[in-house]
Amino acid sequence: MAFESLSEKLQNVFKNLRGKGRLTEADVKAALKEVKIALLEADVNFKVVKNFVKSVQERAIGQDVMNGLNPGQMVIKIVNEELVSLMGSETTEIALMPGNQVTVIMMIGLQGAGKTTTAAKIAGKLKMKGRQPLLVACDIYRPAAIKQLEVNGEKQGVEVFSMGTNHSPVDIAKAAIEHAKNNGQNVVILDTAGRLQIDESMMQELVDVKEAAGVTQTLLVVDAMTGQEAVNVATTFNDRIGVDGVILTKLDGDTRGGAALSIRQVTGKPILYIGMGEKLSDLEQFYPDRMASRILGMGDVMSLIEKVEAQVDAEKAKEMEQKLRKASFDLNDYLDQMEQMKSMGGLSKIMEMLPGMGMNLNAKNMPDMDESEKQMEKIQAIIRSMTMKERTNPDIINASRKNRIAKGAGVDVVEVNRLLKQFDQSRKLMKQMPGMMGKQAKKGRFK
Ligand code: GDP
Repeated sequence: MAFESLSEKLQNVFKNLRGKGRLTEADVKAALKEVKIALLEADVNFKVVKNFVKSVQERAIGQDVMNGLNPGQMVIKIVNEELVSLMGSETTEIALMPGNQVTVIMMIGLQGAGKTTTAAKIAGKLKMKGRQPLLVACDIYRPAAIKQLEVNGEKQGVEVFSMGTNHSPVDIAKAAIEHAKNNGQNVVILDTAGRLQIDESMMQELVDVKEAAGVTQTLLVVDAMTGQEAVNVATTFNDRIGVDGVILTKLDGDTRGGAALSIRQVTGKPILYIGMGEKLSDLEQFYPDRMASRILGMGDVMSLIEKVEAQVDAEKAKEMEQKLRKASFDLNDYLDQMEQMKSMGGLSKIMEMLPGMGMNLNAKNMPDMDESEKQMEKIQAIIRSMTMKERTNPDIINASRKNRIAKGAGVDVVEVNRLLKQFDQSRKLMKQMPGMMGKQAKKGRFK
């Protein structure tokens, strides 16, 4: 799988950060040094790595920590956002002409990159979207390539237009467009000839076809397994011919992922699709955000972060902090906190979203979430059975009040006692902490 080793290394860096309550500038720098090495080893372009680390560092140091996230998580959040932006942020689609106007797509790339296969894959996708594609064999040098396109086109149920090897690619392209217009086809996909290496006559031929056929979208196919070479190829093709989007093939066999992370930054062109196998169905739309999550092995940690952002009310958090400092935290606040947790989906939902936790949730060594949640509900029921006066001043809760509360919550008096005792202990602890809380308050910033 792509990004395997990068993913593992990054996760190790973050594991170390996550354990820390507070990050110094030195911590951030040391972590980013490891990130840099991991990216370089994944064959990401050197300049891209340099800029990436620089932006993460600038954002991570001196940044306020968001409520609900610890400094380690904050760095992961920033790295994730920068990875997404590195890969282009938005998902880009092939730009098709409106209505029944014919869109002409020209597929270009080196021989063996996966052009012919990808042309057929794309034809299948467009057909599924209700378009009428026509595949066109413009490779006049390799009869085998024409045959291959015909075989694949048939599998996809898409017509293949060919004129053998005795006409120029320009003539074939023009004739194909005429054919499409006459037959109600609205997307013409030109499969052009590649070479083993960049070569001037190939480039000139592509420029000629592009001009003569009035190409709408020039799609470059590059082999992810060639790493930085793919990036160089993309740069050359883009400079010479002009590329609208890139399709990265063989990502299924690329363990490093350097091309996927560099192409957008180096060429300024978006990756539209990724090839994930030899079968004609193995073409996926490219989503920068999903790819970043995949690289960071985050499970669904971003949704967790979003939940925290959306649901932890900043004002409330501040109020709570002040109460903690003044040790005026009462049972109402306790109830509030539990409700906030519940609104995020409960303990087990939160655990599931943590990296690496999802699959281990049922493992024997995990705390029993159902039990913990039941316990939480019991505590809520007990507090709800108290009067406001009792909640703000639990000291007044005597034996008869305890009995009434237990009955109201449907629990044993022992449970009411246990809650009150625990609450009393935490309150005492808080009272001893004013000095500590001072330090605590500063903890929210990277130093
Ligand atoms: P072309 O010379 O650029 O037209 O390349 P082809 O379409 O003939 O593909 C070259 C080889 O790469 C073929 O064996 C394809 O099956 C294979 N291939 C293409 N795309 C992918 C992909 O995404 N994953 C894998 N594993 N193989 C691919």
